[in-house]
Amino acid sequence: MDTADYLRSHIRTVPDWPAPGVMFRDITPLLQDPKVFRVLIDTFVHRYMDPTLRPTVVAGLDARGFIIGSVLAYELGVGFVPIRKKGKLPFNTVEETYELEYGSATVELHTDAVKAGDRVLLIDDLIATGGTMMAGRRLLEKLGAEVTEGAAIVDLPELGGSAKLRDSGLALFTLIDFE
Ligand code: IMP
Repeated sequence: MDTADYLRSHIRTVPDWPAPGVMFRDITPLLQDPKVFRVLIDTFVHRYMDPTLRPTVVAGLDARGFIIGSVLAYELGVGFVPIRKKGKLPFNTVEETYELEYGSATVELHTDAVKAGDRVLLIDDLIATGGTMMAGRRLLEKLGAEVTEGAAIVDLPELGGSAKLRDSGLALFTLIDFE
């Protein structure tokens, strides 16, 4: 079994959650099994240890991006910064609002989280419409940093988010596709 299939076999699909008709891809079984968790993190570490791809900062998207992003940053020997849903960060922030299927969402980043010249890896568990990752990228760029790559465990290509992100010029690395 290759790595993608091994990891895929540890993602749980929960039908009709959080709303009827949604197939929720639950990554918690990947984290729960120490052998699988190590394969997952080592796959990212292996890629981003490469000197041409090594970031100066890892930025994680709320909330599952924190779990994998912080461990990855630790292994790479770089800092980790959280991009949070509005109202959670205590210091001065920049913010970005983006559209959801119903309504909108706002994410925030501390103004001193990154600086001009930083090469940032932006990470989350999953890309659906791409709105969350796009907003995170805009926040980092507002502070003058360069987002060198966006990464996620899962891509849902049928929702068009990853294509939209790539069309906007963002390099993406994802491990598993689900139709
Ligand atoms: P997007 O902004 O539409 O790309 O949605 C991605 C965000 O929603 C990420 O932060 C994900 O954690 C979350 N998300 C959406 N659908 C799922 C899912 O099926 N499983 C896990 N997270 C999801």
